[in-house]
Amino acid sequence: MAKVLIVGGGFAGVVAAERLAEHLGDEHQVTLVSRSRQFVFYPALVRLAFGKVEQDDVSFDLRRTMLNRRVNFIEAEVARIDPFERNVTIAHGEVEGKLPYDYLVFALGRRLATERITGFYEHAHHLLNVDKAISFGKAVKKFHEGRAVFGQCLGGRLPVPVYESAFALARRLEEKGERDRVRITVVSPTTLESEIGDIAGAVALKKQLDAHQIEFLPDRSIESLTQNSAITKSGEAIDFNLLMLVPPFRGSSAASYLGITDGEGYIHVDSKMRVPGVERIYAIGDCTDFAGPKMGHMAVRQAAVAASNLAAEINGHVPVSDYRHELRFVIDDTGTDSLYLRKDLSTNEPATVGHGRFWSWAKRAQKEYWEFSHT
Ligand SMILES: Cc1cc2nc3c(=O)[nH]c(=O)nc-3n(C[C@H](O)[C@H](O)[C@H](O)COP(=O)(O)OP(=O)(O)OC[C@H]3O[C@@H](n4cnc5c(N)ncnc54)[C@H](O)[C@@H]3O)c2cc1C
Repeated sequence: MAKVLIVGGGFAGVVAAERLAEHLGDEHQVTLVSRSRQFVFYPALVRLAFGKVEQDDVSFDLRRTMLNRRVNFIEAEVARIDPFERNVTIAHGEVEGKLPYDYLVFALGRRLATERITGFYEHAHHLLNVDKAISFGKAVKKFHEGRAVFGQCLGGRLPVPVYESAFALARRLEEKGERDRVRITVVSPTTLESEIGDIAGAVALKKQLDAHQIEFLPDRSIESLTQNSAITKSGEAIDFNLLMLVPPFRGSSAASYLGITDGEGYIHVDSKMRVPGVERIYAIGDCTDFAGPKMGHMAVRQAAVAASNLAAEINGHVPVSDYRHELRFVIDDTGTDSLYLRKDLSTNEPATVGHGRFWSWAKRAQKEYWEFSHT
């Protein structure tokens, strides 16, 4: 019998747990540990902030879902991993002390390094969890004139909600007849092409921004904030009355001292999603060291690869499944011109770019499908 421990109940951990339970016989034990029993569907948080969905629509109960799939669920905080003794130390939660494993799947996501931006906590909104999305939504409701600034800090690695929230605000103000009272600015630490990962995608997105009279400021790396200004690395002050900023990301601190991470704390993996240099550990999702944005669809595909390889390893077969790094997203402009982009990041081939209302619908349908197939 093998004890498989999966840490992290996000897109990566949930899919890995479900797939492993499918691939492995009843004699094996699959356990998922996460700090909250709620799974959050993050791509819907912009819609939550703008009042298009309710809090109950963006999360579901993991314990019930996992029980239906023969996976033990433990609500607890993971403090550290010991790959030599093969155990995980739990800081607090439903269990305490050390949980032993035969195989570990690390899926703890990324950390928000807000401490790297002076004044972030006091002066910026973000929408990277349910509470923050709700509080940003309250600020949006009170905002009727002035300047709204949206952007990512260097290392933020999540452009989609930046553009979606700028479009959602523009649309809201248009509907209320207040659009001409507000200047909307998107700030990027790089260029649009680097942020989006493709030249044709950048051209399409720029057209969309222009159509909503949203200005775009490239090469502005925001380093500190005051009550009404974002200060860039070059000393420029960008004034705002409303600010939504994606902070820098870093890898999970539970892996930081093991010598398996890059300079930003992301875990090295091979194409089979194994962690080189340590036995019996796989890593998947936002915690890994792949280049480019950190996206849920990548986490899901990595989880499927890891589950297939780990099941093969346990069953005495050679792991044969390889992960291919691909960028795929929809930027929902909440109207008729949503943008779809798909690009194979392992080649230099240009991206496939699509537009239209269909993609907005497809993104919402994907949420319904996820809920239907995982609850
Ligand atoms: C607002 C927003 C919009 C997005 N839009 C898109 C989109 O349109 N398309 C797309 O593909 N992706 C999108 N993403 C990105 C996507 O949500 C992430 O890439 C995805 O959630 C990563 O999955 P993960 O399982 O690796 O990490 P997470 O989803 O972050 O899951 C990690 C889990 O581990 C738990 N955890 C962390 N630390 C500990 C600990 N120490 N102990 C116990 N548990 C712990 C967390 O509570 C969480 O449950 C968006 C994200 C946000 C925030």
